[in-house]
Amino acid sequence: MDVYLASPRGFCAGVDLAVDIVDLAIQKYGAPVYVKHQIVHNPKVVADVEAKGAITVEKVEEVPEGAVVVFSAHGSPPSDYATAKQRGLTVLDATCPLVTRVHNEAKKYTKEGKKIVLVGHVGHQEVIGTTGQADMTLIDEREDWDLPHWNKDTEIAVLTQTTLSVNDTALAISKIKKSHPNAVIRDDICYATTNRQAAATELADITELVLVIGAQSSSNCNRLKDVAIKKGVPAHLINGPEELDLSWLQGIEKIGITSGASTPEKQVKAVIEAISPENVYRVGPGEESITFAIPRNLRDMVGNGIRSSSEDDIIFNENN
Ligand code: SF4
Repeated sequence: MDVYLASPRGFCAGVDLAVDIVDLAIQKYGAPVYVKHQIVHNPKVVADVEAKGAITVEKVEEVPEGAVVVFSAHGSPPSDYATAKQRGLTVLDATCPLVTRVHNEAKKYTKEGKKIVLVGHVGHQEVIGTTGQADMTLIDEREDWDLPHWNKDTEIAVLTQTTLSVNDTALAISKIKKSHPNAVIRDDICYATTNRQAAATELADITELVLVIGAQSSSNCNRLKDVAIKKGVPAHLINGPEELDLSWLQGIEKIGITSGASTPEKQVKAVIEAISPENVYRVGPGEESITFAIPRNLRDMVGNGIRSSSEDDIIFNENN
């Protein structure tokens, strides 16, 4: 049995940054440091930062007055910053810069008088943060939806959640363009989502089963599973080897493995060890080199080598 391992997979630059911000905040200010919402959607990452002294809360109101709080990678509405100010909190913002870009687009197009349409999933933390920036109409590309009855000359700008299905979002946007051909369309699905879905598509083309390693709460993990299933390949989303059902592997020679942007590499390695394949081949566009800068108020804490690589010590059988 061989494993075909997606590249890229796992931590993106935004998740790397968010986890580093919590680590550095604990070093600088001491424990506890509060984190508003799970720092990223992965229970093992949350448990790791909590073991170092982070306390995860869902509302800014739960943070004691005067404490230090990190806002998660998904982004937060302006009301959270206002509450933090009222409570005298020190805020360290771990919002991914690519999410901040969407917030800025929402404000810019609103100022220009355009109606904003956001393609995204109601209740997702990133969508809560983005819809807080301006008035907008939310549509879920997975459902039946229609735009409000706007005149066809109404100026609209279309933004998207960063972790959506590339293919489903393209269909939604082409539907919008039919009724509003002059709509401004922003390509907000991030590089990490796009690259991981491209690699998952290649995996599904050559394997008989795809395992996505990550959390059920992770939007981008779920989209990776969808990619394989839509190509007719059975796929399972599991946190680690403890959720691996060995009956899935019966009669299978080629297994594809990938992981979402919030999944630590050690969870992937543990699954590979549990499968114990004869060979491991790398598949996909390849590793990324994007990194985001640590916020100014933590730069004095940055030593050498705090950023990690995702493919540490997996031994590959090169296939190209
Ligand atoms: S998935 Fe994309 S938008 Fe989200 S944290 Fe990673 S790079 Fe940023």
